[in-house]
Amino acid sequence: MAKHLVLVGGGHAHLTALMRLRDTVRAGHRVTLIGPSPYHYYSGMGPGLLSGIYRPAEARFNVKKMAQDRGATFLQDRVVLVDPVRRTLALDSGAEVGYDAVSFNTGSGVPLDLLHSSGDNIFPVKPIENLLAARKKIREADPGKRIRVVVVGGGSAAV
Ligand SMILES: Cc1cc2nc3c(=O)[nH]c(=O)nc-3n(C[C@H](O)[C@H](O)[C@H](O)COP(=O)(O)OP(=O)(O)OC[C@H]3O[C@@H](n4cnc5c(N)ncnc54)[C@H](O)[C@@H]3O)c2cc1C
Repeated sequence: MAKHLVLVGGGHAHLTALMRLRDTVRAGHRVTLIGPSPYHYYSGMGPGLLSGIYRPAEARFNVKKMAQDRGATFLQDRVVLVDPVRRTLALDSGAEVGYDAVSFNTGSGVPLDLLHSSGDNIFPVKPIENLLAARKKIREADPGKRIRVVVVGGGSAAV
């Protein structure tokens, strides 16, 4: 019997599944991909986006197109609640999507609720396209003025 498979998040962990979606669709199943953007930026190229080595179009996957080309539906939205009893997902837009099977790949995020104040000078690294905004901000700074950049976290991406 045909089932509805829902993939939440079009990031790294779902890319191989997205490549192989045609097999699932050919078997008669319905597939929906839900994600906040038609594009997924490859994190490994994130530092290169920040430094200007890569242009945005060189560092991203068009996950909407990947899904649609293989017979799936793409919903540009964000899952905010799961009801496992009714097997439904509530979306940010207010819509509701039913599923037979759901796979979550929503990745990691910077816990911004730890901040005591907000500001347009703070750029959490995920989603990676935030680094484009950081680059723009740095480039817009007055060339005669020293700017102070603070990197929080000392992993390989920070290096
Ligand atoms: C700057 C940087 C450089 C890195 N370089 C490397 C590297 O060189 N090699 C390496 O192995 N790893 C690297 N990493 C780590 C790598 O990015 C992560 O391990 C990997 O992206 C995790 O994959 P994921 O599939 O779990 O999540 P992600 O690839 O982050 O995908 C999650 C997706 O889910 C979507 N999403 C989030 N919330 C929702 C929601 N509520 N509803 C719907 N969709 C949602 C997001 O928009 C995103 O598209 C790097 C990370 C950073 C930050």
